[in-house]
Amino acid sequence: MRKEFLPFARPAITDADIREVDAVLRSGWITTGPKVRELEAAFCRMTGASGAVAVSSATGGMHVTLKALNIAPGDEVITPSMTWVSTVNLIVLCGATPVFVDVDRDTLMTSAGLIAEKITSKTKAIIPVHYAGASLDLHPIRKLAAVWEIPLIEDAAHAAGTRYRETAIGNRGTAIFSFHPIKNMTTGEGGLVVSDNVSLLERIRRLKFHGLGVDAYDRTAQGRSPQAEVLEPGFKYNLPDMNAVLGLAQLDRLDSMNRKRSELVAHYHDRLAGVEEIIPAQSPDYPHTHAWHLFIVRIDTDKAGMDREIFMEELKRRNIGTGIHFRAVHLHKYYREVMGFSRGLLPDTEWNSDRILSLPLFPDMTEADVDDVVDAVKDVLVAKVGGRK
Ligand SMILES: *Cc1c(COP(=O)(O)O)cnc(C)c1O
Repeated sequence: MRKEFLPFARPAITDADIREVDAVLRSGWITTGPKVRELEAAFCRMTGASGAVAVSSATGGMHVTLKALNIAPGDEVITPSMTWVSTVNLIVLCGATPVFVDVDRDTLMTSAGLIAEKITSKTKAIIPVHYAGASLDLHPIRKLAAVWEIPLIEDAAHAAGTRYRETAIGNRGTAIFSFHPIKNMTTGEGGLVVSDNVSLLERIRRLKFHGLGVDAYDRTAQGRSPQAEVLEPGFKYNLPDMNAVLGLAQLDRLDSMNRKRSELVAHYHDRLAGVEEIIPAQSPDYPHTHAWHLFIVRIDTDKAGMDREIFMEELKRRNIGTGIHFRAVHLHKYYREVMGFSRGLLPDTEWNSDRILSLPLFPDMTEADVDDVVDAVKDVLVAKVGGRK
């Protein structure tokens, strides 16, 4: 058994990253400034996006985007329940109604066909998720949104470096990336909104900093312009330079870090072939480049004779960390008890919600670490610990 605990994710921080952050800390300007502008420009070069606004988290970015779209009481917003809770929380906090759409059982991705069934005259936004580092099938989803004239916001929290057909996610439309420490690149905490809608992006820029008509940093003043006025009430979701500089250093290595993830996943697939209790999530069959944010598997609870919680607990006892991405949002306490959602609404989401877990995957892992995980998985399955539920 492994001696040291293997977490399911760990940020890849180099000495060079630390030197970059150190330099900003010593520079006299540590909050939003030139490094944020550089990160926005570098991300636009990487994705081909026409404009970007860095924010303090993807959650903050989603909040200002929903506000910039005037999402309000009476509106419906379509999003999967198989997502991180933040999107749905924000829809509710804007006073709107979340309308949950199911996902494909094996790719965990929603689709134009599933979304179409949920559109009504009240639908004011569609927020699908690029899942685990793979890409949504964007062409039909964009077509659907365009026909109905409904704004489309791509949740690209898992999709830094993902490509759909030949183009990077974020290349066009509106997409929100996360730089949380477990994501493919990190700024500690942080996020970034890209959009080809110039007026929407301007409003997002304003709303993320008090509703002032300026960003936090003015080159000529070498600080904040003291004359700035509130144009509308806004929030405080700006990304500091000490975070942005880490993102710049990480962005330089994103391709190589993602390549490493994909090599580790290939090794997982080899080693797990024939383990019939473990069903890896599948990649969609349209052309895409997978960023392998997560390596998600589902446990066949019948064949394994144990439920997912016991399986995770037993892996932990063998020093293997795991995560759940995600527990269906509509089955969280608030959404069940206060909003009245219940089981039966989204069969494929719920099937996965009970069975998915993320096995360790991060760039600094080795193939030997993957071997340790698979050995532990097999050991737990053979032991049939816990007995039948
Ligand atoms: C991580 C994540 C978010 C939120 O990102 P933060 O930067 O932590 O706010 C949103 N959606 C999905 C699918 C995520 O995984």
